[in-house]
Amino acid sequence: MSSPGDTPALPEHLYVHVPLCRTKCAYCDFYSLPLAGVTEDVSSIAASLAAQAQAWLARDVRPQLLKSLYIGGGTPTVLGPELAMLVAVLTTWFPLAPGAEVTVEANPESLDASLAAALAEAGVTRVSLGVQSLDDGVLAFLERPHDAATARAAAHAVRDAGLALSVDLICGIPGQTAQSWIDTLNGAIAMRPEHVSVYPLAIEAGTPLSAAVAIGDVPEPDPDTAADMMLLAQHVLGQAGLARYEVANYALPGAESRHNTAYWTGAPYLGVGPGAHGMLDAATAAAVGFTPARADDVARLRYSVACDLREGLTPMPRLDVEVLTGEETRREDVMLGLRLARGVADDEAGAAGVTGALETLEAAGLVELVESRWRTTERGWLLGNEVFSAVWAGE
Ligand code: SF4
Repeated sequence: MSSPGDTPALPEHLYVHVPLCRTKCAYCDFYSLPLAGVTEDVSSIAASLAAQAQAWLARDVRPQLLKSLYIGGGTPTVLGPELAMLVAVLTTWFPLAPGAEVTVEANPESLDASLAAALAEAGVTRVSLGVQSLDDGVLAFLERPHDAATARAAAHAVRDAGLALSVDLICGIPGQTAQSWIDTLNGAIAMRPEHVSVYPLAIEAGTPLSAAVAIGDVPEPDPDTAADMMLLAQHVLGQAGLARYEVANYALPGAESRHNTAYWTGAPYLGVGPGAHGMLDAATAAAVGFTPARADDVARLRYSVACDLREGLTPMPRLDVEVLTGEETRREDVMLGLRLARGVADDEAGAAGVTGALETLEAAGLVELVESRWRTTERGWLLGNEVFSAVWAGE
């Protein structure tokens, strides 16, 4: 007879993807639909997302207290008060561990004081606010559905509700000047966030911005300008006490995102909602019925939820699955660990068989070995894809 301890467990981290936005931004390739193109009402969409989460509890696995719940998108706050109800329902079905982190992503145009208060009341601890820029010209270029004043008001609402604040910013945008970027960084600091994420603008295929670049209406973003702006961000945010702990993320001490840190440290997580990703260990994957064709040495299973809001959200949608062997899992852990400032232990790199690849990267000045830990250098962070792909290839 098996004991509860033998039964594989669901992850301690849950991500729920809300596939709706007020309108689509010019650069965005995330799975989300503009509200105007959706016929279903937001309360039934929220109920369908909750049902997809609940369906995991019907499987032959034991739930664990959640250490983090992250509701992302899309723009979860377009659900309005239904978002607070979704948080309340999810945390009833998936009880939280003491001190758990509960984050919702928000956009300034859909977050006011009353919604922020309702989210706090429902148990949300942290809001990740899509500010992107505090320059109205840059926001208009990106086709964001808000201006800088609305972003400041939303940040106030978050603080007034007693919630932790994370601010998302984008740099390297065509037409964005150095002064505009400095003003945005200083304006973000004035919001008193515990956490800031800074990403260089990427031109994603299939977006209106990519079409504008292709016909020459908009210049390609300049990678050197973006690199300079990333360095400037590190300097300005660092002076405000926000230390860079991951390639794109800064935090006050102790305010690092626990949910995202789970992604970067190989912890399993459940993903729910169209386009969401999840990761399970091999035992849990087998217990919930995944029988990968490549069954030898499966150590980790990654999946993405393959369903379309326009076709309706069923409780158990199809999952597209990728399996990783033990060797691939160890390499992936090193690759993800190099995103973090603390880096990866030398013996972990050795066990993954990537010491040679790291020594080659060290010779190129992209990583360094400090006190028996491999860390990505400043230059390596600017050329992150080169570092991560070399480690993944094990070359
Ligand atoms: S708000 Fe975010 S998810 Fe929605 S379209 Fe804009 S970038 Fe994409």
